[in-house]
Amino acid sequence: MIRYDLHCHSTRSDGLLTPAEVVRRAAERGVKVLALTDHDELAGLPEAREAARELGVAFVEGAELSVTWQGETIHVVGLGIDEGNAELVEGLEAVRSSRDARARRIGAALAEAGVADAFEGALAHVTSERLISRTHFARHLIDSGHARDMHDAFRRFLTAGKPGYVPHAWATLSQVVGWIRASGGQAVLAHPGRYKISASELRALLGAFRDLGGDAIEVVSSSHTPRQYTEFATLARAFGLKASCGTDFHGPGESRIDFGELPALPAGVDPVWSAW
Ligand code: AMP
Ligand code: MN
Ligand code: MN
Ligand code: MN
Repeated sequence: MIRYDLHCHSTRSDGLLTPAEVVRRAAERGVKVLALTDHDELAGLPEAREAARELGVAFVEGAELSVTWQGETIHVVGLGIDEGNAELVEGLEAVRSSRDARARRIGAALAEAGVADAFEGALAHVTSERLISRTHFARHLIDSGHARDMHDAFRRFLTAGKPGYVPHAWATLSQVVGWIRASGGQAVLAHPGRYKISASELRALLGAFRDLGGDAIEVVSSSHTPRQYTEFATLARAFGLKASCGTDFHGPGESRIDFGELPALPAGVDPVWSAW
């Protein structure tokens, strides 16, 4: 197994465990280097850092930032960021603040599809007053019997073209890579295998990301199949990008791969941590 896990979530965004619980679970499962990467949010970092210090885990300050690139939602993980950097903090505040109005629009869209009071239902699952996400709607859809599980909730209600999906403009790729780099961090394109884009669009994205100052892409991720590990290792090398890995853990029972279960990076890639 690999000792690095550079992508996971806590109750400060859409995870089910507190930052300290996340670190404890990772430590118990053999992770030695951990980044907490809550969506558009840095507030969990002090608690996680303190827990990591107590448990002897090397901690990496992180966040997963929401981007709209050519109409598609893309996620960029920042690693080794400075959570006191004003540019990053203000950028994330702006991104987070747009989530409330979006959530109300999701609630209204679901009401039209026959799911009453979804906004209130999602709010009951929110664990940080600073952040509401589709994950909270998905948990409500499961609770209220409208969906079997997370996969079902997203597939039938919350993804593009489905009744509870509303278009949204996140930050631009250029802004987000800029904020991460301004704060001294490395920018990592998250789970590239998840985006519903063509092979040529993916190449355009990788080129644009690298040209803006992007450092790495996630190669090993719970969103990828073993075949995609190889595919993205090849693309990382071809584009001169480093390789990262992370479970994208959200909570027990909700995540396909738990801490400590990630396979090693394929041979021949330059790990994102090679200069740490
Ligand atoms: P948001 O940032 O509000 O659009 O929510 C995005 C989050 O929804 C992701 O970070 C995942 O945690 C979750 N998500 C998106 N698609 C799926 C899916 N197909 N199955 C399970 N969770 C998903
Ligand atoms: Mn999430
Ligand atoms: Mn993501
Ligand atoms: Mn994530």
